[in-house]
Amino acid sequence: MNQGTKNLLKHYKFPFNHTVPAQKNVSFTAVNRACGDQIALYAVVEQHTLKELFFQGKGCLYCIASASVLCQHMKNKELQEAQEEVKNVREWLLESDGKPPEGVSEEILALGEIKTYPTRIPCADLAWKGLEELLKKYFLTEK
Ligand SMILES: [Zn+2]
Repeated sequence: MNQGTKNLLKHYKFPFNHTVPAQKNVSFTAVNRACGDQIALYAVVEQHTLKELFFQGKGCLYCIASASVLCQHMKNKELQEAQEEVKNVREWLLESDGKPPEGVSEEILALGEIKTYPTRIPCADLAWKGLEELLKKYFLTEK
C-alpha cells in the first residue's frame, strides 16, 4: 500500500472538518444512490476566498476519504482557483485516460486508484461534484 492510500485510510478514520460549522454561507448536498453515499458540504466564504469547507454525511471509504481530502485541500483557496481545481480533478477522475492535474497532493493522486473500479468512481467524485455545484450556487446568488 503506498503512502497516498495509507493517508486516505487515515482521512476515512479521522475525517477533516467533519462537522456542521456555526457560521456558513452556502451549503449543498450531493447524493450517490448507487452506493448510498450522501455528503452535505458547508462553505464559509470571505472576500472571494473559501476560508473553510466542512462536510457531514455517510458513505463508503472512498466517498468519506475524498470529502475529507477535499475539505483540507480547499482551505483558504480563492474561489476562482477552487473552481478551476475542482474542474481539473473531476476531469481527471472521470476520464479513463486523463492525466492528473499538476501540483495535487499524494492523497488526491491516491483517489485516482478508483479508476480501476469504474463503478466506484462516483464515490470518489461525489464531494468534488458537490463543491462544483455549491460554487455554482454561490456565484448565482452572489450576482
Ligand atoms: Zn460509495
